[in-house]
Amino acid sequence: MAQRLRQAQFDVVVLGGGASGVAAAAAAAKNGQKTLIVEAGAMLGGELLSGMSLDGVLNARGEYVVGGFSSELFDECRSMDGFIGPIHDYRLICYVCVDPEVMKIAVMRVLERHGVTAWVSSFAEDLVVGPDGRVSGLVVVNKSGRTVVNARHFLDCSGDGDIAVQAGAPFEMSDASGDLQPLSLMFRMSNVDTPHLLRFAQGNVASLAVGESDWIRGTRSDQELVDLLVAQGEPSLFFKSEGPFLGDAIRRGDLAPTALIMIQPTSKARREVCINATRVGGNVDGTNTAAVSATIGTLMEQVWRTASFLKRQLPGFEQAAFAGVAPRVGIRETRRIMGDYVLTRDDVVSGRKFPDSAVAKGAQHVDIHQSGTTQIRIPIANGGSYDIPFGCLLPRGLPNVMVAGRCLSATREGMGTARTMGPCMAMGQAIGTAAAMCIEQNLDNVRELAVDTLQHRLKQQGAVIDGVH
Ligand SMILES: Cc1cc2nc3c(=O)[nH]c(=O)nc-3n(C[C@H](O)[C@H](O)[C@H](O)COP(=O)(O)OP(=O)(O)OC[C@H]3O[C@@H](n4cnc5c(N)ncnc54)[C@H](O)[C@@H]3O)c2cc1C
Repeated sequence: MAQRLRQAQFDVVVLGGGASGVAAAAAAAKNGQKTLIVEAGAMLGGELLSGMSLDGVLNARGEYVVGGFSSELFDECRSMDGFIGPIHDYRLICYVCVDPEVMKIAVMRVLERHGVTAWVSSFAEDLVVGPDGRVSGLVVVNKSGRTVVNARHFLDCSGDGDIAVQAGAPFEMSDASGDLQPLSLMFRMSNVDTPHLLRFAQGNVASLAVGESDWIRGTRSDQELVDLLVAQGEPSLFFKSEGPFLGDAIRRGDLAPTALIMIQPTSKARREVCINATRVGGNVDGTNTAAVSATIGTLMEQVWRTASFLKRQLPGFEQAAFAGVAPRVGIRETRRIMGDYVLTRDDVVSGRKFPDSAVAKGAQHVDIHQSGTTQIRIPIANGGSYDIPFGCLLPRGLPNVMVAGRCLSATREGMGTARTMGPCMAMGQAIGTAAAMCIEQNLDNVRELAVDTLQHRLKQQGAVIDGVH
């Protein structure tokens, strides 16, 4: 069906409505730019809506290392009784738990407050690139037809780096191992008896993962750590594959091989938790639609099998009800766009600071899920955070495209921590603000922007750049 190309004009276009994209769009619009966010799905928020905890927002010491956009979002959730707050896992990190149903509303409230235009059910299929390498338009297809969206800056928050790759930026996928992290589908169960569940946890310490960082463990025993975990009163537990509860279930054939059953609260009112337990490994390429689609049936069956298992075998779940699956299959790892700086394993694990170039932070351990029952988990030194330099968000050779989120410029290990939702939101806020400042100053290339002025603006608007471990 031949269709006329429509035209639209914005100052800033953001591709992708996940954690990084919604932050980028809100920041660009808050800083005065006419901003469009384009999302293939029917709703905005991406994995923010999955029910999982938001990791990398705080370090293991409990200090917030991400602020600004995320604080505004959490305030919205809190105003609708959808904020459960920070919980320590006494394993590796502190995370924030929210109600994903409330989060759907909170995301829209923040975007609309700042005047962002959103196009959902819209797929970006092509680019218009000038002879100087400057991107001038994004071709978007949706029910209304095909539209070239013209803008001065393009913010690639697609997770896969779709704009950056089409514009010619170099990228990596996997490493010498050829491995890619498995795909998973989150689900939720309500009417969980938390006190009963926590009593079971206290009596089954060997089944739980705790004290995996020296800073958290100190001189404490597993039992002492589980007692602290349970004292928080929240249904937040990590059953490890090496432990008897999960290990025996896999050996009996009750469950498909998995590294974890992670349980985290999503709603006090519904006595509801999110379960992270399913996986399809085998190095599925998350940019191959047929390959991803082929995992859905298997993951759905794993969801149902795990939910049934929990009702039968885990105290506290006897009266629990299946409460729904996440809006989409979760893809942990695809392309990493190579930028002016590449965040390394050493940078993140040592908690390195980049005072002259930091625009965001992360704090989650390096977290690389593998096929079967294994997972690489490497803590950040001293329960602290690491900095993400601006150069990680600048794809090589592109003057007016920036990236944020899981497609940042990093090694596989660097991305294995920076991919969590805290740093994704912080990176998004950084590039949205940077794009706005470039337009204010009439700069053609984002590299002309003085990073100290960007850092100053980010801090004025609540971002955390320094002052924490
Ligand atoms: C199974 C799983 C478990 C995880 N567990 C946690 C956890 O517990 N805590 C945590 O903090 N993080 C967790 N993560 C990591 C984290 O959720 C993601 O890495 C993060 O949300 C990525 O955000 P993003 O904005 O980079 O990309 P995404 O959330 O992937 O968003 C990208 C968006 O772009 C859209 N898009 C892509 N291409 C196009 C296109 N061409 N046209 C239009 N739209 C497009 C997609 O539809 C998508 O909505 C998990 C991830 C997965 C998959």
